Amino acid sequence: MVLAQLGGSISRALQQMSNATIIDEKVLSDCLNEISRALLQADVQFKMVRDMQSNIKRIVNFDDLAAGHNKRRIIQQAIFNELCKMLDPGKPSFTPKKGKTSVIMFVGLQGSGKTTTCTKYAYYHQKKGWKPALVCADTFRAGAFDQLKQNATKAKIPFYGSYTESDPVKIAAEGVERFKKENCDLIIVDTSGRHKQEAALFEEMRQVSEATKPDLVIFVMDGGIGQAAFDQAQAFKQSVAVGAVIVTKMDGHAKGGGALSAVAATKSPVIFIGTGEHMDEFEVFDVKPFVSRLLG
Ligand code: GDP
Repeated sequence: MVLAQLGGSISRALQQMSNATIIDEKVLSDCLNEISRALLQADVQFKMVRDMQSNIKRIVNFDDLAAGHNKRRIIQQAIFNELCKMLDPGKPSFTPKKGKTSVIMFVGLQGSGKTTTCTKYAYYHQKKGWKPALVCADTFRAGAFDQLKQNATKAKIPFYGSYTESDPVKIAAEGVERFKKENCDLIIVDTSGRHKQEAALFEEMRQVSEATKPDLVIFVMDGGIGQAAFDQAQAFKQSVAVGAVIVTKMDGHAKGGGALSAVAATKSPVIFIGTGEHMDEFEVFDVKPFVSRLLG
């Protein structure tokens, strides 16, 4: 199921419920089944979906609801709250502190918007008075270093990379070392998103992580991927300690429902969203507007 459809299915189910003249347990049950189907097809964990269903049924107890109650509104509010809960893994991500060196490693598939997001993340903090630096440890994609260099130069952010060195682990370690000496407080390591073999990519991520000892690993995902989000996120989580998620391309049609799966797979919160190609099109993640959009 494509992502945009997740929001579509949920809003259709809510609409169907709204069209019903009388809202009884059957109407609620049908609506919840429809929503659960959409979530399961988007690879949200079965347990999360089952919990959501039973929580809503508990909250919307028909026996307790007096006749005057607006059941529709109560049900919609309960669904909204449950989706918000699904985006909350229960613990905050590591938060870097200004003036204290943190190493942040970015992982994600090629095309997810990783390189762009690295600069956005650096630029966001630079504007708040941090001293960020960028390290390009993607030696696989031709042009990756140039892209990072171009972005970094535009934002006046120091960068490190190489046109000749082919070992990403070596570059990552050297870059982090260099910027630690320069007292940068936010050292951002961009990594490869593709490899000749998938297994080699994940092994490379493990090695880069071992060499740079990141305080936080951020998984970057395209807001337009649906079903694939869970597997992608899980695959990265199995090789490195993913601790946060950034969802990109939220300026398009994507509803971003794959974020639910990524949060479930990594047990990490979404911290920012990308809302355009430009450096400043980057927002702190806010769960309520995100869920509203998902339902809309
Ligand atoms: P990488 O291969 O994961 O490093 O991806 P890139 O950073 O090169 O991004 C791939 C494409 O997505 C580029 O054309 C970016 O300009 C674009 N991109 C990245 N983030 C966003 C976003 O939030 N919104 C939009 N519209 N485009 C984005």
